[in-house]
Amino acid sequence: MTKKRIDQIEVAGRRVFVRVDFNVPMEAGAITDDRRIKSSLRTIRSVLSRGGRAVLASHLGRPEGKGFEAEFSLAPVAARLAELLGADAPHGVAFPSQDPTDDAARAAIAAMPERGVVLLENLRFAKGEKKGDAGFASRLAGLCDIYVNDAFGTSHRADASMYALPMAMRARGAPCVSGFLLDAELEYLVGRIAAAKRPFLAILGGAKVSDKILAIENLMAKVDRLIVGGAMAYTFLRAQGVATGNSLVEEDRVELAREILAKAAAKGCEFLLPTDHACGREFKAGTDTATVSGAIPDGWMGLDIGPATRERFAAAIRSSQTIVWNGPMGVFEMPPFDAGTRAVAAAVVDATASGATTIAGGGDTAAAVEEFGVADKLSHVSTGGGASLEVLEGKHLVCLDAIDDA
Ligand code: AMP
Repeated sequence: MTKKRIDQIEVAGRRVFVRVDFNVPMEAGAITDDRRIKSSLRTIRSVLSRGGRAVLASHLGRPEGKGFEAEFSLAPVAARLAELLGADAPHGVAFPSQDPTDDAARAAIAAMPERGVVLLENLRFAKGEKKGDAGFASRLAGLCDIYVNDAFGTSHRADASMYALPMAMRARGAPCVSGFLLDAELEYLVGRIAAAKRPFLAILGGAKVSDKILAIENLMAKVDRLIVGGAMAYTFLRAQGVATGNSLVEEDRVELAREILAKAAAKGCEFLLPTDHACGREFKAGTDTATVSGAIPDGWMGLDIGPATRERFAAAIRSSQTIVWNGPMGVFEMPPFDAGTRAVAAAVVDATASGATTIAGGGDTAAAVEEFGVADKLSHVSTGGGASLEVLEGKHLVCLDAIDDA
């Protein structure tokens, strides 16, 4: 799965369409977290420093393809990008239009100097983007000479700018390559997992077994050890006949959980579940709390892994060589039920420091490691929630078919 990367092709004087993921969180018109902008800077700089012209395009939020809506405009992103690029973009960042392919956008691109940057308006203002429309894709294709996918987080959806556009450009012989961000995601989520050093451990958590079932099944076939925490652990404990009190259990998945446990045992995959729990009376901040070992009594719900489980999970983590982590161990947004996820994060940091390859993915997990201030102490934190889960499920990301192999 090695794709040709932007730095491996000539860009001088060429118009390079870079599909980025600038879908940043916003509050009252202000960007609250600019990490997604920062994570594509290396790709953009690679185009500019070699005399290319960068045409950047992204979606933001979920407008429904009915034209311009101020609330979803990329204007604040254009301003922040100009600040971040500074002197690397000597002509600034042009933000010419209210529609990604209107006359103003085309005129601005036609007039671009070398090392110029144009940011198109939100792709999802166009009704063809979400529909993967060939007409919209061919209007975009007319704007540029080279295509770059640097939007890993959208690579599982065949939106027009992600799939039909590069397909149309390939059909006329234009290079279609990956950016540095996409390249790093593939290196870790695909490459390092395929060549995992052992012991190989997967840590899965979060709310529902039903959301993670395909990932559990796919990873179980590959790993030596599987840790399951978070609310989904309670469905497995119920399947083992352990009382779970008022904890979240997906009744309709208990049988499936039993089958998975049997499959893991047959395969010799070590399956680690919590044995003690940080419980609350209610799902709310400030609720009464208790540490419970084994059976959880009625009137209490498990909201995090308990102290003995934290130690057992940490020992498994510290003695593994490859670790993939998706999903929190408890309600990490609501202290004190963040302790389990913090302990797992600390152990993953230790494992990384001792040479293990560690990969965290999924929106909540990435948010947790950022909040704990340890994101840069892991080998890789995936920027793509849905897309990274699909890779862990063993699914093929359709938009990668449109990118040239290395
Ligand atoms: P997911 O999006 O599936 O990764 O689930 C993440 C969510 O699961 C977070 O918002 C956590 O608060 C929640 N969660 C984790 N553990 C528990 C638990 N024991 N009980 C209820 N919710 C939980």
